[in-house]
Amino acid sequence: QARREQLPLLPYDGGMAEQATERIALARQLRSALDQGEFELHYQPIRRVADGRVVALEALLRWRHEGRMVSPAVFVPLAEASGLIVPIGCWVLEQAARCHARLGERALGGVSIAVNVSAVQLLGDTLTSVVRQVQREYALSPGALHVELTESVVLRQPQTARARMLELREAGVSISIDDFGTGFSSMAYLRDLPLDYLKIDRSFVQGVHADERNASICRALIALAHGLGLGTIAEGVEQPEELDWLRANGCDQAQGYLLGRPAPLAEVLDAISSAGA
Ligand code: C2E
Ligand code: CA
Ligand code: CA
Ligand code: CA
Repeated sequence: QARREQLPLLPYDGGMAEQATERIALARQLRSALDQGEFELHYQPIRRVADGRVVALEALLRWRHEGRMVSPAVFVPLAEASGLIVPIGCWVLEQAARCHARLGERALGGVSIAVNVSAVQLLGDTLTSVVRQVQREYALSPGALHVELTESVVLRQPQTARARMLELREAGVSISIDDFGTGFSSMAYLRDLPLDYLKIDRSFVQGVHADERNASICRALIALAHGLGLGTIAEGVEQPEELDWLRANGCDQAQGYLLGRPAPLAEVLDAISSAGA
């Protein structure tokens, strides 16, 4: 009898099993993706709210696999679990450095490249040396590279994370805490870690002009960040009203489809140049 009651669940379980099989297959294929040249970076502008100037480009990883794009939300966790995120992350840093060198040619040398760094990579012992290596190789100015870390990164081993962050800072890399407020945020981390920016997650920015709850959260996050001497970056800005609200409430920088979608570097550069940065 109990067994019969579970029958309706079967199609759902089947779906889960299929997803798991798919994941295992992807994890295997991920191993050769780097050698096969299947990764590319797209770049999304981060703009100063006050005047719309592009201040940074966030590098977002893309995996073109068997004719389709696999979302980083799917493959980054797989790459983290297998440790592959370390060589992949090195590749990302090298590409980001190369990208910055090209910005210089376009008189955009003041624009920095923001790279997402995973916990596994931060807590490993090669990150800073890779950063220094690409800085040398591409003759980058201090400030050319920026690193985005999520709260989960820092939570795992706060002492090691802090030490690595200080090394990065010493190498001229500024640091933001990504998706702030969505994980197990701790005020102690904000107080104790060497940070430069707090990125406000899209879930709080969405409809901020019309949603009093989100408005309260954004106002509090901006005040908190500024009180600690950090800049604020709002992500996922899609509507002009959201941007107006952010400007009126003193948010420093913003990013989102309204201000530019992630795209290959050449496309982004054309869009920025034709709009007069
Ligand atoms: P994230 O760092 O929070 O990146 C922002 C995500 O929001 C990106 O998704 C971006 O395409 C998307 N986005 C930007 N503006 C808007 C908007 O206005 N509306 C909406 N709905 N979405 C917007 P994406 O590219 O799929 O990346 C997902 C996540 O994968 C990133 O979240 C980041 O955590 C991770 N990721 C991406 N590239 C890398 C990488 O090179 N290394 C590591 N470790 N993680 C990466
Ligand atoms: Ca990010
Ligand atoms: Ca983010
Ligand atoms: Ca986010």
